[in-house]
Amino acid sequence: MNRRELLKQLGLGLAASAALPSFLSACTKDDPGPEIPYDGNVVIIGAGAAGMFAADILRSKGIQVTVLEASNQMGGRIQSLRNQNEQPNLDRLVRPSDTFQLSSVGADFPVEMGAEVIYGSNSSFATFANSFGLPLVDVDAAPARYILGTEQKTAAEWGNDADFVAVQNFMQGLPGYSGGAASMQTAAGVSSRAQLLLNAQAGNFFGSSADRVNAAIVGPDLGRRTHNNSTRLVATNPMQDILLSRFSEVKPLVQLNRQVKSIAYAGEKVVLTLQDGNQVEANKVIVAVPLAILKAGDIQFSPGLPGAMTTAMSRFGVDACVRMMIDFKLNFWGSGTSYLWGGNTCPHYFNTGLGRSQFSRTLTLTVFGSRAQTLSALGRNMLNPVLAELDTLFKDANGVGQGTLRIRKVIDANGFEQEPIFIAKDWGADPFFKGGISYPLVSATADDRVNISAPLNNRVFFAGEHTDISGDAGNINGALASGERAANELIQAILAGV
Ligand SMILES: Cc1cc2nc3c(=O)[nH]c(=O)nc-3n(C[C@H](O)[C@H](O)[C@H](O)COP(=O)(O)OP(=O)(O)OC[C@H]3O[C@@H](n4cnc5c(N)ncnc54)[C@H](O)[C@@H]3O)c2cc1C
Repeated sequence: MNRRELLKQLGLGLAASAALPSFLSACTKDDPGPEIPYDGNVVIIGAGAAGMFAADILRSKGIQVTVLEASNQMGGRIQSLRNQNEQPNLDRLVRPSDTFQLSSVGADFPVEMGAEVIYGSNSSFATFANSFGLPLVDVDAAPARYILGTEQKTAAEWGNDADFVAVQNFMQGLPGYSGGAASMQTAAGVSSRAQLLLNAQAGNFFGSSADRVNAAIVGPDLGRRTHNNSTRLVATNPMQDILLSRFSEVKPLVQLNRQVKSIAYAGEKVVLTLQDGNQVEANKVIVAVPLAILKAGDIQFSPGLPGAMTTAMSRFGVDACVRMMIDFKLNFWGSGTSYLWGGNTCPHYFNTGLGRSQFSRTLTLTVFGSRAQTLSALGRNMLNPVLAELDTLFKDANGVGQGTLRIRKVIDANGFEQEPIFIAKDWGADPFFKGGISYPLVSATADDRVNISAPLNNRVFFAGEHTDISGDAGNINGALASGERAANELIQAILAGV
């Protein structure tokens, strides 16, 4: 039996579609077990959604768990600014000046530098938010705007425009895609006028560009999802708070600023060497760090990773990624708008105050791939091409571009405008992430996500969004599902006495 079949039999993989997420009924403080008799210890590397969930499952079974996290906070790619009262990561943000303070940001809601919305109103992460009774904004109820050429319009306004219809038909059919391995660009075959819109919806959305993302992997992934396709925004609370509240019992188990540099797993115990030279021993380990960290060889494995795993890793990309937040004096894109899809500088704009701000004067931008590299190279000047793009797309009756005109600026003590108000997180430049999200290259095959997480000697297990096989790779639900799968694999190994 191969591993994919085994996972199916355990109800952990592709066959789990009808089952409710098991954590709906598990892992609470009062969970009576069943406890697992085990006198060994488990170390989890990485305190993102995957690592936190795996830790919570093991903890609830009475297993001794420690989580080692390289950075100075929990949450990983769920990183909310409202949550950072001490602004510990200010130095990791791109700011208009050295003196710029986050307090200048006018948004009257939490600003997300990583995961921003919840996919699926009945998904794992939505369940977390719902369990706290948090109001959620229905993003799909608001019209998006789509760019073709220099025009941006709603779906209703584009109507029967053949290029617009071609892209939307491709996106709607993607979950049922049954063609061979091909980039989104090749699979869609849309006109040159529609390329940027396709790139936004079928490329950037999945972590790269339409000429790199494999339609034959992403399509079936979408088709296999167990939750609905709606998108929700948390009205009042930071995403990071939801994660940390849900896993409040894991928090004391997490050690921050503990970067793992090597994993020796040939002996009876797994020996982890940390950045500071200290060593930690564990009977079993779950590696829940981003794929880009593994691909970069930032953690040395001894013995080295098996060829099947490194081959599988090479068939996934993790591109550069920049998230920007920009404050404006006036909403010129429509306070009821959700997304603006199809820019060249920025493929993906989001009206992040939608349904939760009194003013809705903030845009967040999510850019992956070569466009993110371009912005990253500009540093503080990354705002300029974005404003230029908005100027082209949004003009007033006199033809004056709205981006440059409406950008909000810090006002000094004398009432003069100073630097513009924006902040950005350059995920590719962060040494503990080195990129955005994983995506399958055209060379990837259906088994690669399974091979990428095959346990080593029943001692080292792998989690993280890139290892998800439930159809949610690349997002929080996938990260959670992967943590659950890895924890269950580890438990099976304990129960089997291996
Ligand atoms: C800009 C952006 C926007 C996104 N938007 C959404 C969205 O709207 N909705 C959604 O569902 N998903 C979104 N995602 C994806 C989502 O954030 C991720 O899929 C998910 O958070 C990944 O969780 P993870 O646990 O797999 O990894 P991570 O959250 O990356 O956690 C891995 C942890 O490992 C740590 N680490 C790294 N190296 C080491 C080491 N050597 N030793 C110890 N620790 C280490 C890292 O510091 C990190 O904390 C977005 C991602 C990005 C980047």
